[in-house]
Amino acid sequence: MTSALTDPHALSGDACLRALDAGPAGLTGAEATRRLAAHGPNRMPEVRGRGPVLRFLMHFHNVLIYVLLGAAVVTATLQHWVDTGVILAVVMANAVIGFVQEGKAEAAMAAIRQMLALRAAVLRDGQRLTVDGAEIVPGDIVLLEAGDKVPADLRVLEARGLAAQEAMLTGESVPVEKDTDPVAADAALGDRRSMLWSGTLVTQGTARGLAVATGPGTEIGRIGGLLAGVEQLTTPLVAQMDHFARWLSFLILLAAGLLLVYGYFVGHHEFDEMFMAVVGVAVAAIPEGLPAVMTITLAIGVQAMARRHAIVRRLPAIEAIGSVSVICTDKTGTLTRNEMVVAAAETPEGSFTIAGKGYAPLGSITPAGDLSRLALAAALCNDAALHDRSGQWTVEGDPMEGALLAFAGKVGVSRAADRLDAIPFDSRHRFMAVLTEDLGGRRTQVKGAPERVLRMCGGVDYAHWHDRAEALARRGLRVLALAERVETGDRLDAAALECGLTFLGLVGLIDPPRPEAVAAVAECHSAGIRVKMITGDHAGTAAAIAAQIGLANPRRVLTGHDLDKLDDAQLALEAASVDVFARTSPEHKLRLVTALQANGLSVAMTGDGVNDAPALKRADAGIAMGLKGSEAAKEAADLVLADDNFATIVAAVREGRTVWDNLKKVISWTLPTNAGESLVVVLALLVGLAMPVTAVQILWINLITAITLGLALAFEPTESGTMARPPRRRDAPILSGELVWHVVMVAALFLASVFGVFAYALDKGHSLALAQTMAMNLLVVLEIFHLFFIRNIHGTSLTWDAVKGTRVVWTVVIAITAAQFAVTYLPPLQTILGTEPVPLADGLLIVGIGATFFAIIEIEKQIRLGLKGSLLSVWRRSTRA
Ligand code: ATP
Repeated sequence: MTSALTDPHALSGDACLRALDAGPAGLTGAEATRRLAAHGPNRMPEVRGRGPVLRFLMHFHNVLIYVLLGAAVVTATLQHWVDTGVILAVVMANAVIGFVQEGKAEAAMAAIRQMLALRAAVLRDGQRLTVDGAEIVPGDIVLLEAGDKVPADLRVLEARGLAAQEAMLTGESVPVEKDTDPVAADAALGDRRSMLWSGTLVTQGTARGLAVATGPGTEIGRIGGLLAGVEQLTTPLVAQMDHFARWLSFLILLAAGLLLVYGYFVGHHEFDEMFMAVVGVAVAAIPEGLPAVMTITLAIGVQAMARRHAIVRRLPAIEAIGSVSVICTDKTGTLTRNEMVVAAAETPEGSFTIAGKGYAPLGSITPAGDLSRLALAAALCNDAALHDRSGQWTVEGDPMEGALLAFAGKVGVSRAADRLDAIPFDSRHRFMAVLTEDLGGRRTQVKGAPERVLRMCGGVDYAHWHDRAEALARRGLRVLALAERVETGDRLDAAALECGLTFLGLVGLIDPPRPEAVAAVAECHSAGIRVKMITGDHAGTAAAIAAQIGLANPRRVLTGHDLDKLDDAQLALEAASVDVFARTSPEHKLRLVTALQANGLSVAMTGDGVNDAPALKRADAGIAMGLKGSEAAKEAADLVLADDNFATIVAAVREGRTVWDNLKKVISWTLPTNAGESLVVVLALLVGLAMPVTAVQILWINLITAITLGLALAFEPTESGTMARPPRRRDAPILSGELVWHVVMVAALFLASVFGVFAYALDKGHSLALAQTMAMNLLVVLEIFHLFFIRNIHGTSLTWDAVKGTRVVWTVVIAITAAQFAVTYLPPLQTILGTEPVPLADGLLIVGIGATFFAIIEIEKQIRLGLKGSLLSVWRRSTRA
């Protein structure tokens, strides 16, 4: 839709409303539907990505593949058609599997982006309603507060302390203040202070705006920006491996060249034969499938996390979340259910208990008493709405405010006053104030943290009420204080609020812990991850909930005030041992992340408000709340929790560890296998022995195993015990000494067994072709056993579960076994690959050697794990001492 209004910034708000045939109470539902059909959804036109052909071709754009294609050209000129065919088949298989899987991965990423779609609050039929951002139409009245993303181009109708960050549109990084006054028609975009632009962020204040342009008609739509480039499916590890693979292929080419020279001049082999052998070596050694398989492993991880309600916004987060050693989480809604009920009230008249469940405004109050002024303030100083859906009461807005409305309902008061002005709640000043007018006159009503509100009141016994608030908090209740004052003016003045209010009373709200959070905290502890609660709530409430949730050290609480007194070095010391931080503001979160990181810890930090963005960016894994979180927090985060649940963070950690393990497994399987395969040929050439496998055969093995077996590892489920291990070090290299040792050992065992079988067969009087067939089959058998070994790098492979494997593993193994039987026993394939049928006894021998190989590496692993385990316990004992 294009804007129906020219220069709305230069017109008055009323003129804009008239021009769009809209009113301050918003459109009716029917009118909104009609306009949606006429103007189309409020969405940017889709950017056309690369076409399928180009995307397919991109799979050939890789140094490893260039080498293979070069080899194909040379074999073709030498008229070794079979070899050319096999090499081309390897390249094609790689591209097809890569293309199909990448398509799936991209579809999954697109679906995930969809889950992050913007929602916005509008007025429809005079009621506040949260709708999908795409449903906004010109004429809609949109309600915004700090942290929201502006969903369309809006003419500001009402603004309070409003500022927006418009860098994406104007390049100006400092937030711009906004108000309702018209500006000159020819003002530059950045100077049109009466407008809010689609895609920008509200950094402070609240606003009510009239949608004047939507979708492609908006400023951002017109310049076609916003379309944050298609994210690459990569992480630091994958990029590092890509780099490694490139260097490895250069090294392999160099070695292959030297081998050719050596074989021809020193070994006096025929050039033709020598060349084919060298091609075989190079193809076998190059891990051409590795990049694709690693990308697929990541994509599977992203999907697995999404299934558990953790949405990955930046791929590197998958690696980061798997390595966290501390999780800093807020309390309300994450550790607790955020389903609040007012359970207690304390007024100068006495203490009251309030019964009732959920948000239904029904429940008794004992003892009987007059709570009407307290309840009225609770109902008026409130932005939420309750909806009765056939007996099911739900909240629109903040659950705590919903609970206050239910409480007011129980007392029997309803919201019947006009709001003239408001100061919205901010976690830095911890109160909210409204100025309202009814038949009785004008009044200010304030609600907020008790210590804050009590200080605004005159003639009140601070110590007494402070103690009563503490007593409620110790019961784990969330405590709010309410106050009011008669007014004459028509604006609220923050400075004038600081004294002279009349204290009305306290309310205590229950917010029960999530049962699953208790289990998740325990799981974190067994996984060597410390959980810390960083909340804006009262110290007493925080400590009570921390104890119920099972945090390691719920007794010691540091408040924001305490933190302010510590310098960075002291904070680093304290932050490590204290688990509960109360009455904190977003700035404290940033200091805490930094302090924990200074201790060498890898930190996950949650956040929801606009001011949490710096802490989320600074954390190793920044996590935003999907439901109650602001758009600003989501944009700064690496991960978004679709259900705001702490248990989801732990599920994400488990998936993150699984992805890392699987990447490691893919690498640990590929490198030694490739080394083993190629060294068999290299050794034969260097020592001048007969070739135990021919060039075509080695190409064939590579074709059928490289991608299939490696790919099976991308689908590995979480190993049992994954969450019983301490977190890996963030900087631990994947190409560790352990891995290098594994490569050397497996390659040596491959060499010994293949040459052993080959020599045995020749010795037994078998033909050269039969001996080579046996050697080739042995290589495949060894690779399969190696796969079963790699599946359990952290535990034992000798369990029923390990043998049972997964469907993917057995499908691949059965397919490869069938293919091996085919090339060994089917005459037409025998001619192509130069094979001969293997007698049963020799076949069994091959499998037996495979089993022995498996036993050796498994025993070696058990010894290594045992040593590591005892070193770890010695280390634990010594650090404890
Ligand atoms: P968490 O940081 O774990 O989500 P929280 O929700 O308690 O905890 P804040 O939202 O910063 O943290 O709230 C801090 C305090 O401010 C609360 O304990 C309460 O006393 C007060 N408060 C919270 N919301 C409101 C509100 N809408 N109006 C008035 N006061 C509020």
